[in-house]
Amino acid sequence: MGKKLFWIVVLIFSGCKGISQKNQNQMEETKNKEEVVYEVTKTDAEWRAELTEDEYYVLRKAATERPFTSELLENKDKGTYVCAGCATPLFRSENKYRSGTGWPSFDLEIEGNVAYDVDYDIGYKRTEEHCATCGGHLGHVFDDGPRRTTGKRHCINGIALDFIPDSK
Ligand SMILES: [Zn+2]
Repeated sequence: MGKKLFWIVVLIFSGCKGISQKNQNQMEETKNKEEVVYEVTKTDAEWRAELTEDEYYVLRKAATERPFTSELLENKDKGTYVCAGCATPLFRSENKYRSGTGWPSFDLEIEGNVAYDVDYDIGYKRTEEHCATCGGHLGHVFDDGPRRTTGKRHCINGIALDFIPDSK
């Protein structure tokens, strides 16, 4: 009876595209990079035991959470966003803005607590950002942020953050 219709919906998001899980070659490249010693250093097994599965894959394996899934996306409360791995303060609520990308976005980091690296995970150059204390992957920074302020868009995986309200 009738023809079957197949609908293929391809969603293309600007920024934080796709899943950035590293392939084998890139993992090896990473190993060859200069070793950074972080203040908070744990073995892979320790991180695995301590973090939830999603936190582990984002923070330790540089995976990207699905857009529009973070509980923190619509959070407008005043407070500090800290690293879900080691509790280092990373972003302030006054620097959070609605980017429409589906990931929590900030125009400024807490200076000195976020470190940067360059990756080519999806075929072109992006600036990766991670916690300067434990090395946990947070997301990427792009130059299409609010012009009124810094012009930067820190596109962050909400799962990599915990929120501490000012009232506490
Ligand atoms: Zn951290």
